Amino acid sequence: MDAQLINRSAELIYNSKHTIALTGAGISVESGIPDFRSKDGLWSRYAPEEYATISAFREDPEKVWRMLREMEELVLGAKPNPAHIGLGELERMGYLKYIITQNIDNLHQAGGARNVIEYHGNSSTLSCLWCGNSYNVEEKRGEYPPLCKCGKILKPDVVFFGEPIPPYALTKSFQLAASSDLLMIIGTSAVVSPANTIPSIAKQNGAKIIEINLEETHLTSTITDIFLKGKAGEVVPALVKEVKRLAGIN
Ligand code: NAD
Ligand code: ZN
Repeated sequence: MDAQLINRSAELIYNSKHTIALTGAGISVESGIPDFRSKDGLWSRYAPEEYATISAFREDPEKVWRMLREMEELVLGAKPNPAHIGLGELERMGYLKYIITQNIDNLHQAGGARNVIEYHGNSSTLSCLWCGNSYNVEEKRGEYPPLCKCGKILKPDVVFFGEPIPPYALTKSFQLAASSDLLMIIGTSAVVSPANTIPSIAKQNGAKIIEINLEETHLTSTITDIFLKGKAGEVVPALVKEVKRLAGIN
């Protein structure tokens, strides 16, 4: 970790009026939930194109539930890591207005953040694509695949490829991106559309961009102002520590 870049980033956070964060699967890797890229993870056995599309679900929901069940078990056992907790602290101190997450693991909220937009929905409810009934996941816990009272297989209310973004999340994220002066992009490859339009909207409206990732992305050489290479669970706490020092908080 480059101490000078951490200091410059912390100063930006400290001096900005409207900082937001966009997070992706990478922020939860240190909590034990693999991203799409991990070599031996879930997604090497379940190709997202084959298991995470709405047409795959409609054609063979039972098959897709084999992947969903594993994902659900990983998410249930996961705890927020220092990156989630650090963002929660920044929010509490007033240095972070909103988190827009592409994740469906609830770990930002578990890490203490309140203003979280779940761009790809939430795994705590299930719906029936056929009759429209909706259930809380707890009602169906342990039932694989979970069935609607109409007899069809239920779908978690997360956004599959080919499905629209929940309208509130779409509108609110757009407004936030257009009015922010600093965007922190953490653990996302920024290839999934339309979430990947958020960074350029912010940039066009004058926001500075801090990117935290293990490796460079297509954003790094195009719109990123400061690239912090490293694990989110190490970089975010280092930033929080420096912001606190600037603010005179111990
Ligand atoms: P992605 O898998 O395409 O990219 C993850 C990025 O995070 C990569 O650029 C990788 O280099 C980086 N990364 C990995 N470990 C990191 C770490 N410890 N610290 C910092 N960076 C790290 O993920 P995406 O861009 O979010 O797109 C995948 C889609 O699938 C999204 O919709 C995502 O939310 C969903 N998904 C969600 C979860 C979850 O809810 N936790 C898990 C897998 C996939
Ligand atoms: Zn039904």
